[in-house]
Amino acid sequence: MENFNVVEQFGIDVFNEETMRQRLPKNVFKTLKKTIAEGKELDSSIADIVANAMKDWAIEKGATHYTHWFQPMTGITAEKHDSFISPTNDGTVIMEFSGKELIKGEPDASSFPSGGIRATFEARGYTAWDPTSYAFVKGGSLYIPTAFYSYSGEALDKKTPLLRSMDVVSDAALRILKLFGNTTTKRVVATVGAEQEYFLIDKKNYDKRKDLIFTGRTLFGAPAPKGQELDDHYFGVIKDRVADYMKDLDERLWKLGITSKTKHNEVAPAQHENAPIFAPANLATDQNQLTMELMKKVALEHGLVCLLHEKPFAGINGSGKHDNWSLSTDDGQNLLDPGNSPMENAQFLTFLAAIIKAVDEYSDLLRMSVASPGNDHRLGANEAPPAIISIFLGEELQGVVDALVEGKEYTSNGKQMFNVGVSSLPDFPKDSTDRNRTSPFAFTGNKFEFRMVGSNLNIAGPNTILNTIVANSLTEFADVLEGAENFNEALHDLLVKTISEHKRVIFNGNGYGNEWPVEAEKRGLPNLKSTVDAVACVTAPKNIALFKKFGVYSEVELYSRQEILFENYSKVINIEALTAADMAKTEILPAVMKFAKDVCDIAASKKALGLEPTVETEMAKKVNDLTAALSEKAYALSDAVVKAQAIEGEEAKARCYHDEVFSTMQSLRAVADELETIVGEEYWPYPTYDELLFNV
Ligand code: ADP
Ligand code: MG
Repeated sequence: MENFNVVEQFGIDVFNEETMRQRLPKNVFKTLKKTIAEGKELDSSIADIVANAMKDWAIEKGATHYTHWFQPMTGITAEKHDSFISPTNDGTVIMEFSGKELIKGEPDASSFPSGGIRATFEARGYTAWDPTSYAFVKGGSLYIPTAFYSYSGEALDKKTPLLRSMDVVSDAALRILKLFGNTTTKRVVATVGAEQEYFLIDKKNYDKRKDLIFTGRTLFGAPAPKGQELDDHYFGVIKDRVADYMKDLDERLWKLGITSKTKHNEVAPAQHENAPIFAPANLATDQNQLTMELMKKVALEHGLVCLLHEKPFAGINGSGKHDNWSLSTDDGQNLLDPGNSPMENAQFLTFLAAIIKAVDEYSDLLRMSVASPGNDHRLGANEAPPAIISIFLGEELQGVVDALVEGKEYTSNGKQMFNVGVSSLPDFPKDSTDRNRTSPFAFTGNKFEFRMVGSNLNIAGPNTILNTIVANSLTEFADVLEGAENFNEALHDLLVKTISEHKRVIFNGNGYGNEWPVEAEKRGLPNLKSTVDAVACVTAPKNIALFKKFGVYSEVELYSRQEILFENYSKVINIEALTAADMAKTEILPAVMKFAKDVCDIAASKKALGLEPTVETEMAKKVNDLTAALSEKAYALSDAVVKAQAIEGEEAKARCYHDEVFSTMQSLRAVADELETIVGEEYWPYPTYDELLFNV
């Protein structure tokens, strides 16, 4: 195998800063860089020059087309390719790409979900270049990362609100930094590192299962004799076939400038993880979308299928996407790093208190931001955090917070450590062993890890919420502190008040324990168990007011998103139900009947010989009962679908899909899975969990 030179190849397909420096006139490069650093719009006077340089570079890399690449509400990315060709008078063509084409596109938006924002007669949608995310070449096209919005300016995508929220949290954080004497920082950046979990299975097995093909998860399947109980997969030796896949994937990601850093086997059999080095939230979002796309693509090239569904298999862990989040200044100071000096400590505690307040006040929004039919299987299923939002601080930081609230001095190892603005905080161990895997939102030394995010989700959503709710706390803090006569005193009082008011959201115990939901209810913390419950909160007055205040979502945009989320829930369950009913009726029932017939034939032959067919009779009876139940439930499921489809109103419809269709589907599955354990292997119509999970 040829040696892959990572240093030379990294970012080779990206129009990154280095390429810009080489290819653009000095003054243009400087202006563009300033635009990027400040998150501003590109000056049209230089757009033509940038576009031309990009085109020349892309053509050298084999590109013939360009595409505005965007992230509509489908959760996946969208692209429409135009070639660079421009005809001349003599029947030939030249390759052209103007600044206008770079900055703005006008794709037909009528077929993307808009939640009623955009009537089809007014289907115009626009895409606008986000110069803070680099353009890149892939598959013969120049990809330009863009935001997607309607004629009247409403966001039709996941990227626009994210960009807005990044501005908002930056402005709010700058106000706080100024109070601490920082006058040099120009922008605060929300940073994100998304750890991506996934399953790999053999394509040959995948092709035999309609449920995997249509829904991305198994709708049936009895557990294999072995699951994850031996803990022998997590961090285990990576099999050659998987290692080849991971190597290939890394090389492809690196060429696209994605800092793929960590890879390992995960808890469940056939489950793995890939994690990049963190980046600004919008870049991390684009890169995670690309990573997911390449994971699937590279898998196919290896005769594998990459499953990104949150719960492809019942009974073993599903896949999440831990969203590591922090705030960093443009000069590289991590604001969630406790620091060493008293000043840094106090500043850290201010940001910490802002986050605690934000998470408590808007836990419903955080929960909503990770809601999806797939993630409903994970949350609260003893592998992922429960659907209750809480914060884990760890013993050390909890001690600090308690001391602050109680007005005591904080001592660590017998040393007095803490008193806001006076003495200093202890050094928090960065890789604390004291890590709580059961918490949805955990402090991990210098960042928070939001663990509820599902593997398939576009991370723009949760990060938009995080940025906005933290911006809100910081803004309220700034409003109080900016007018204070004695800053230190005012800060101390504010921190004590904030933490006292919101400490109910802090929970350092076992989030998987049965006691926690009971305790959480006592504390008044919401427990929004299903997507339908979570989505209902989007348009609560306090939430509309929050987003309006910061201009992250307008009221119209919120209602449209809510409608899309309800609609999506119904559509997904509808597809699952149709697939399950179809598999039960046309695959499982005939297989079971054939088996039953063979059993009965043996019983008849035995009888003819004067033998007592005891086993066969027992088995035939059992199979007969289960067959009747299977048939009844399959038809009940079809009926439930018809009923749900007829319901008017997206929320009521989604509720019906949840309460009736989904639950009928579950009871159908239970019968089928029991039959699978009785019916002979050669009769079973599709690969079982054993074959799917242990065959790569
Ligand atoms: P673990 O699995 O132990 O939680 P990983 O190393 O797999 O840790 O992932 C941690 C992720 O957090 C990485 O993507 C890393 O780049 C990211 N990260 C580290 N520091 C920050 C930060 N300041 N802001 C955002 N993400 C960060
Ligand atoms: Mg990890």
